[in-house]
Amino acid sequence: MHTCRICNQTFSTKLRLELHRDTCVEETLLCQQCGDQFSEAAATRDGWHYQCPNDDCDGEGLTEDLYRLDATGVEQGQ
Ligand SMILES: [Zn+2]
Ligand SMILES: [Zn+2]
Repeated sequence: MHTCRICNQTFSTKLRLELHRDTCVEETLLCQQCGDQFSEAAATRDGWHYQCPNDDCDGEGLTEDLYRLDATGVEQGQ
């Protein structure tokens, strides 16, 4: 079993996971307050106000505390 570290979905093959990660990373936010990663959907309800989904974290605001991971993001490369 291969697990996506970003959204915790599991995939039966490594290829499936890699294909998934291409789309997953585009929608992944990194919280600078707590260092957690989560999907955009988890951080916003209306697509406008973004907030860290962790109860014990005050991180909020896209480009303020929350950053989008992109193709050149920290998760890339090995
Ligand atoms: Zn994922
Ligand atoms: Zn946070």
